[in-house]
Amino acid sequence: MNETALTYRRFKQGDHRYDDLTDLIFKAGKSGKCPTYLHRTPPCQGACPSGHDVRGWMNIIRGIEKPAAGQSWQEAAFWKIAEASPFPALMGRTCPALCETKCNRNDVDDHVGINSIEHYVGDWALAKGLKFPKPAKETGKKVAVVGGGPAGLSCAYQLRKRGHTTVVFEANAQLGGMLRYGLSAHRCPRDLVDAEIGRLLEMGIEVRANTRVGKDVTLEALETEFDAIFWGIGAWSGNPVPVPGWDKAANCVDGLAYLRAYNEGRLQYLTGRTLIIGGGNTAMDCAGVSRRLGQVKGKIDPKLLPERVVAGEVEHPETPVSARGAADVWIVYRRPFAAAPADQHEKDAVIDEGVEIHESLAPVEVILGADGRAKAFKVIKADWSTGKMVTIPGSEFEIECDLIVAATGQSSIFTGIEALDNGKGLVTADGFYQVAGKPGHFVGGDAIYPDLLTTAVGHGWKAAEGIDKYVRSLDMDKRAKVDAHRFDMEKDLSERGQAPTAYDHVPTRATDAAAFAIHNYADRSDVEVISSSQMFVGHFPMTPRFVRTVNKIGADCVGDRRTRLNALTEEQVLAEAKRCMSCGLCLECDNCVIYCPQKAVFRVAKEKRTPGRYVETDYDKCIGCHICKDVCPTGYIHMGLGK
Ligand SMILES: Cc1cc2nc3c(=O)[nH]c(=O)nc-3n(C[C@H](O)[C@H](O)[C@H](O)COP(=O)(O)OP(=O)(O)OC[C@H]3O[C@@H](n4cnc5c(N)ncnc54)[C@H](O)[C@@H]3O)c2cc1C
Ligand code: SF4
Ligand code: SF4
Repeated sequence: MNETALTYRRFKQGDHRYDDLTDLIFKAGKSGKCPTYLHRTPPCQGACPSGHDVRGWMNIIRGIEKPAAGQSWQEAAFWKIAEASPFPALMGRTCPALCETKCNRNDVDDHVGINSIEHYVGDWALAKGLKFPKPAKETGKKVAVVGGGPAGLSCAYQLRKRGHTTVVFEANAQLGGMLRYGLSAHRCPRDLVDAEIGRLLEMGIEVRANTRVGKDVTLEALETEFDAIFWGIGAWSGNPVPVPGWDKAANCVDGLAYLRAYNEGRLQYLTGRTLIIGGGNTAMDCAGVSRRLGQVKGKIDPKLLPERVVAGEVEHPETPVSARGAADVWIVYRRPFAAAPADQHEKDAVIDEGVEIHESLAPVEVILGADGRAKAFKVIKADWSTGKMVTIPGSEFEIECDLIVAATGQSSIFTGIEALDNGKGLVTADGFYQVAGKPGHFVGGDAIYPDLLTTAVGHGWKAAEGIDKYVRSLDMDKRAKVDAHRFDMEKDLSERGQAPTAYDHVPTRATDAAAFAIHNYADRSDVEVISSSQMFVGHFPMTPRFVRTVNKIGADCVGDRRTRLNALTEEQVLAEAKRCMSCGLCLECDNCVIYCPQKAVFRVAKEKRTPGRYVETDYDKCIGCHICKDVCPTGYIHMGLGK
């Protein structure tokens, strides 16, 4: 938290810009500019790849948007979250929260704890057994979703909501993709994976598991049976470390296969020093998992070496924690560890759990032993002081090891579906998430570029919108510049029985009464994200963020499967949501009503209020002094009406 921000003021000591208020207020009146209400997207929402209406959830939690009759705020917030994602309990634990990085509240004190609120609401909805409704009407259109990871499941969820028959084809026995076979269970608990996936399947989504498209069923067969296809096949082939010797040694393994062996319970222990090559989230998961596996005590059975388990040749028998000691685990990264792309809390956690970090070491060669296994990893020291890697001549050395795990990038597997490969191991999508040059085939998630869970969820939603148009033979509209689940005033008014009437096409000038318009309101949320400099953030007092407690697992973690993050309490969530500044939409703070010298701004009658329609201006009284704009904390007022 930035303590100096406590002294935030719009004007600095000695700033005389406003010393002649008479001029500013009364001359401005002649300009004829009066307030109008301008809706813009907050940066939290603009930065979230799923496009969550974060401000919308916050405004429900803090009571600005009232839940439907008989609904609690938790339930109303859940439904708002579920517009974008069916996985809040999982995302609330695993998302690196780009929304928080961009949150305008960072310019006051500290971001709003958006991810922890998602975590709380997601857990609450599971505890209460909330179900997604089945669609009211079936369209009769059939869509195949290939891949039951976050992208495929998000797409299936959005398609089913729209009434389409949806069949998920999944190569594995169980759904979840990386949520189940990649991310470690101490970050992404499997009971929650089962629960959040189970809930969306109950909408009536068919699953054909153990079915790899391209092998068990052909692409052509899908084209015949379905009206459209979504490809959410992820990127399941780990890149090898490109050095001599890598391909020759069985104990140089792919990080994704390594994690899978652990997640399926086949891999129960390590046998010697394990090197993890890489600095992303996959590397941190491999490192955290390695420390939890531990190293077997006593004699090592060569038939049960870890690489044989990772390759799927054998399985370890159930091995009690008492038979395992702490494993010697190193992360070897070619850049400084501070520059590693993994989330900071994941980097901190692996250090806390006893992983050794060896940074600025570029790989040179895998040194093979007489038995053909890797016995050491040769590296060279690298100098990054210029921002570029400069290897230091003569600084090579060998690191002895028993297993080397590559966590250095991924690509998709195209066996039998080669037509989708863009030549770079991925799939190219157009602006509608349609496979380039293949109408009716859509794609999303890691198959386009390996990224985040929230990105996959967002792609699934956007592709579903394209598919919906495609199967109904409608034109696909260009997607908005700010592509998110935005607050829609017209929809909100309609839900409250206050929808504008149809336009009568009779030319009308300067009306403030016609029922076909939402008066003095402009919606720029599809093109503009509001910054803190467009708001009056001095309105908000410093309020420390409520931070989730973290279970410190520590270095003694063999066999430990506890999760790291604890949820906030209900009281903390209520207080945390109040820290949100409602950037770009009315906060109902009354500042404009209180400060208007002309008493021109007044509250809308209670029964007619909706979010964003809390105050109105009497333009006969307004003199254009712009005080209301100056004191509006959210930047919702724009002196735009008039000349
Ligand atoms: C170790 C690791 C840790 C990560 N940690 C995080 C994190 O903390 N936070 C975060 O936001 N992101 C994280 N990510 C990234 C995130 O997991 C992915 O971005 C996300 O899972 C991508 O979703 P997807 O649906 O595109 O692909 P996947 O999750 O890979 O799912 C693809 C699915 O398609 C199936 N499939 C593939 N080919 C076929 C076929 N031909 N026929 C039928 N089915 C097929 C696969 O079996 C799989 O189930 C991590 C990734 C890894 C590997
Ligand atoms: S999915 Fe991630 S980026 Fe989006 S609102 Fe949730 S925490 Fe923020
Ligand atoms: S203050 Fe609220 S609306 Fe503004 S960016 Fe942060 S979470 Fe979003």
